[in-house]
Amino acid sequence: MKTLTVSVVTPDGPVLEDTFEMVSCKAENGELGILPGHIPLVAPLTISAVRLKGNNHTERIAVSGGFLEVRPDKVTILAQSAEKPSDINVERARKAKERAERRLQAKQDDIDFRRAEYSLRRAINRLEVIEEKR
Ligand code: ATP
Repeated sequence: MKTLTVSVVTPDGPVLEDTFEMVSCKAENGELGILPGHIPLVAPLTISAVRLKGNNHTERIAVSGGFLEVRPDKVTILAQSAEKPSDINVERARKAKERAERRLQAKQDDIDFRRAEYSLRRAINRLEVIEEKR
């Protein structure tokens, strides 16, 4: 079985580098499934889960947007933040979700709704990545 080297990088450093057989992710214009030999591609990612399937291991990573670069034998994901389920702090994500929801419900002019909406999406994505059963 052919494989792809996948590397996930954030400004804080590398999160993962390993070989897998398939990468599934959500680009801004739709879901992508990448197999070895895929044509070169660069695509913006949404706040979502990246799923990596290997021969006898799988991984999922919560990414807060970023970019996917595909070459026939390598996939690179550059994201502002990227966490494996074991690195996600549930309590922090729950608090971030509640904070964002409060801001979105407030009837104040000085609230940055767009910022609160993105914060809510990041928190929900983290919670979904932790809770998802394999
Ligand atoms: P918060 O309001 O809790 O800071 P946020 O969505 O604004 O959440 P980000 O700006 O996306 O946070 O991320 C800042 C840094 O904190 C990144 O390194 C990210 O990986 C990390 N981070 C954010 N939330 C969590 C979490 N729930 N568990 C683990 N790491 C987290």
